[in-house]
Amino acid sequence: MKKRIWIFGTFVILASLALFVTTTGAQPGTVKQIVPGVWFREGDLENQGHCNNIIIEMKDYLIVVDANFPSGARLALAAAKKVSSKPVKYVFDTHHHGDHAYGNPIWTQAGATTLAYKGVAEEMKRYEPARWQATSKGRKDVGDMHLDVPEPPKQTFDKSPFILKDDTREVRFYFFGWAHTRGDGFVYLPKEKVLLLEGELQFMTELHKAVGAAVKQGKKLTDIVPAGTKMVYGNEVPASTSITLPDNVKNWVGAFLPAQVRDTYEEISQKKPHGDLPH
Ligand SMILES: [Zn+2]
Repeated sequence: MKKRIWIFGTFVILASLALFVTTTGAQPGTVKQIVPGVWFREGDLENQGHCNNIIIEMKDYLIVVDANFPSGARLALAAAKKVSSKPVKYVFDTHHHGDHAYGNPIWTQAGATTLAYKGVAEEMKRYEPARWQATSKGRKDVGDMHLDVPEPPKQTFDKSPFILKDDTREVRFYFFGWAHTRGDGFVYLPKEKVLLLEGELQFMTELHKAVGAAVKQGKKLTDIVPAGTKMVYGNEVPASTSITLPDNVKNWVGAFLPAQVRDTYEEISQKKPHGDLPH
């Protein structure tokens, strides 16, 4: 454990990393206390497309990180009720994607205020309601909301960090620029000082190192990510890659590695964050 803790819904530099899981260590539905008063609920990504949630206990209320899909929101709300009798006051949408924000109405109905960096609301304006309407057809929990549009976060902030603080804890909400989307927010607990991200950062570092070396050698994308796709959790992604990563990050290598290599290759060769590249 290192000295800092980043608590996050999805910490991602690459677009595809949001879908990034290691199938070996997955324990969907489990709730683990990370430090006193902070819990991690692992979402069932594979079967239900749910994101993970963090529950943070304050003196009089709870903060939940990420709204999840509606069905995931209900499960996270039930988990919050199990760990504490305090009400959920804030739900922080780390970004606008359905698995992180489409559950907003569930939380609002439960009396919570959905909160996000203003870029999340801006991204929603950019991409919605088309995505919501498409998702409604394929996902029962979204369709069952009987809404034509997703619910944007009820409260936004534009100065980073936005801070919630009481006698027991301080929670900081940050925006650092382009990450997984234009509006990604990050949550940091300055007092607790525990690191969640070390392994994932190492993976990102090794991934960039390996792909950067291939770019330097003048390799083409098809040299390291050959044509041919496979379906992973409903996403069509490249099937294979010749890039291998060291053993110390192999816990983070999953079915999305070829897609991550492709995205990294594009980022390095075009010198732009992946979300800024034309699709
Ligand atoms: Zn996402």
